[in-house]
Amino acid sequence: MDKEQHCPDLLSELADFMDGTATIEVCAEIEKHMAECPDCRVMVDTLEKTIYLYRNREERFELPSGFRERLFTSLHLEDYLKD
Ligand SMILES: [Zn+2]
Repeated sequence: MDKEQHCPDLLSELADFMDGTATIEVCAEIEKHMAECPDCRVMVDTLEKTIYLYRNREERFELPSGFRERLFTSLHLEDYLKD
């Protein structure tokens, strides 16, 4: 498994994937990679939970300082950081 090569490609497409705007091919590619890569699976799972909670709660839930910013910036999802 060549994580060095595949993970960055995956990350660059995750924003669309999470947004539901990714193509079927990209979704399949991401899901296939996640099946083989525990690191990405954990990250996507965390991201999904974060976005889900963020979108469905009026109150801010507590995250470690800077966690959300670091996570979203690393995934090129800065738009989700807008208040
Ligand atoms: Zn990966």
